[in-house]
Amino acid sequence: MRRTRPIPVLDGHNDTLTQIRTAPPGKERSFLERSEHGHVDLPRAREGGLAGGFFAIFTASPGYERVVGPLMDDEGVVIPGGRSIPLPPRLDRRVALRWTLAVMSDLFRLEEESGGEVVVVRSAADLSACLRDGRLAVILHIEGIEAVDTRLEALDVFHQAGLRSLGPVWSRPNAFAHGVPFDFPRSPDTGPGLTDAGRRLVEKCNRLGILVDLSHLNEKGFWDVASLSDAPLVATHSAVHALCPSPRNLTDRQLDAVGASEGVVGINFHVGFLHPAGDVNPEETSVTRIVRHARYVADRIGVEHVALGSDFDGATMPGDLGDVTGLPRLLDAFLDGGFSRSDVHLIAHGNWERVLAETWGG
Ligand code: ZN
Repeated sequence: MRRTRPIPVLDGHNDTLTQIRTAPPGKERSFLERSEHGHVDLPRAREGGLAGGFFAIFTASPGYERVVGPLMDDEGVVIPGGRSIPLPPRLDRRVALRWTLAVMSDLFRLEEESGGEVVVVRSAADLSACLRDGRLAVILHIEGIEAVDTRLEALDVFHQAGLRSLGPVWSRPNAFAHGVPFDFPRSPDTGPGLTDAGRRLVEKCNRLGILVDLSHLNEKGFWDVASLSDAPLVATHSAVHALCPSPRNLTDRQLDAVGASEGVVGINFHVGFLHPAGDVNPEETSVTRIVRHARYVADRIGVEHVALGSDFDGATMPGDLGDVTGLPRLLDAFLDGGFSRSDVHLIAHGNWERVLAETWGG
């Protein structure tokens, strides 16, 4: 109301492609048409000012939903009382590869059907062009890289197809690294660091210009990436451990390393990573909690290291945010929380643009 032109938002993480593909009967949706289900589709993205973001491909562990019940989302387990659930076992590579190819094909088909409205971006120039022309920029991200063999041959193919970001692990362990479990409260120092294949993965991502996402990685893995990688350190969808002691959040030392590397933290909107008590009823938390985590990071390492990493369609949003159409309310909360308009531009899109240009090169 009092604000002028909406500030475009580049977002560090959504699970929209997975949600669309796995929608239960009665909740089917298409990305190109407005739906009341889930958090993101193209019409709602336009309304909320979403200019683009990281679209994750995530392979669920077969049968795991039956173990944890219908309350599980990509961010693990949203169970009243904060009970923790064991992580699923390692995922078969063939299962991950089949699923990953299917969701990539969904994405390329929707890009085609969008008639130029949705673009899978492969370079910083592509990204700037989308922001300028108002086309939705999709950054192809794989969360948990089980679909790639330890010789990393599939990585070349995925890169050629447009992959520009990956998380070595979702929380379950794989051939490359170990992720954090969903226990609460807990330190992120939960197990061993990268495997030899994980180290080769980081080096190859650096060489190809693929962003290595630190969200979901445990602390030893984080420090292994920090010592190996020559790119800015990035957690696409995490928050602040000092404010909410989930192992998915970053400790002060980790934040300092992100700042020193000129990297960025995409603040996750999941209520279980924002509220000091962990999982709470979404109505008990609000967008001001996102601002509080952002303020902590900005005060500690600088506003140029703060970004957004919503986790739309993969997590439980604060009650007053709702879905992607709530983004203007969030940006207003940043302005009301003492961030300047130029700070909000950095947080909303400028910091991601800088870090992606640096990481992707050219
Ligand atoms: Zn995630």
